[in-house]
Amino acid sequence: MKIKRISVYHKDLPLSEPYWLSGGRLKFEVLDATFVRIDTDNDITGWGEGTPWGHTYVPAHGPGIRAGIETLSEVLIGADPGQPGRIEYLMDKTLPGHPYVKSPIDMACLDIAGQVTGQSLPDLLGGCFGTPTRVMSSISSGAPEYMVGLIKKYRERGYRGHSVKVGGSNTDLDIQRIRHIEEHRLEDERILYDVNRAWTRREAAMVMNATADLGVTFEQPCETTDDIKALRRITSAPISVDETLVSVNDMAAIAHEGMAEVANIKINRVGGLTKARRIRDLAIAHGIQIYVMATGGSAMADAEAAALAQSTPEEFRLGCWACQDMLTVDIAPGRGPRSENGDLFVPDQPGLGFAPDESMLGEPVAVFVE
Ligand code: MG
Repeated sequence: MKIKRISVYHKDLPLSEPYWLSGGRLKFEVLDATFVRIDTDNDITGWGEGTPWGHTYVPAHGPGIRAGIETLSEVLIGADPGQPGRIEYLMDKTLPGHPYVKSPIDMACLDIAGQVTGQSLPDLLGGCFGTPTRVMSSISSGAPEYMVGLIKKYRERGYRGHSVKVGGSNTDLDIQRIRHIEEHRLEDERILYDVNRAWTRREAAMVMNATADLGVTFEQPCETTDDIKALRRITSAPISVDETLVSVNDMAAIAHEGMAEVANIKINRVGGLTKARRIRDLAIAHGIQIYVMATGGSAMADAEAAALAQSTPEEFRLGCWACQDMLTVDIAPGRGPRSENGDLFVPDQPGLGFAPDESMLGEPVAVFVE
């Protein structure tokens, strides 16, 4: 089997409401999505999506995905998409770094590999654990009462997990937020306090130590992995690493040095499911639990995240995120896994199990052929 055509689509995915990162420092209103269609010489079609969270969140650039695929197309045309490990090797040799460029290609190849072998994405990633994955809501920063109000709204929709955005220079306000939200937390509810790098080391130590009695988990309290390593020595709260977990080498250092107890694996950021699976397995081997997210994107990106989550044993799987709930555009109406009553579940179908509605994507912006 050989790749004979790669078609690249660009689609803007508007958010239903503007979104501010923790600390209110970056605003996002639309996501730049790239969809990739790969056709093979035996008439199988695979689909992939790469949607960074804007251009300013992490080093991942929407237009860069399309430029990068142009560079990669030379070696991809004629390669066997049923061998994702070899495709990964080829891409890494041809374009070092830029993992976010490679994730939609990896996804489309796994979609094809699944269709050829009759396996679903979770099966290709090691096997499906049959329970659905808890979907985490995303709670914007605000006054403590406002944030509890947002959590209540998600509760009404069945959500039992919330990624609550805190962070900024007002440490007293963050302490109030956390205490107020914990007072209103239900027994089975999972809450992650996500700082998105918004604290300095001093601010992080102040808030984390002032709330140590609550035993809550903080995600990416500071900018760098070195910051987190330093914090680990002077705080006791569990820490999740998110933005600075990019490579399997990062995961190895985090695990070996005991920097964090949780890893948030964002599939586009780490370069696709093939690499994400390796990071996930390394985390599990070190007793580190995981959250899984695509980074952003449509139901296709959510399907990819749900597939990795569902191939992870339940005791290590803390949750995933459904970005589809935050968009005004649906490129695959009625298809793919949908967040229902706070859960996401991947149907047992070969490969990805669905394709986008191509009429929603417009004409391809680039086509590469043999
Ligand atoms: Mg996060």
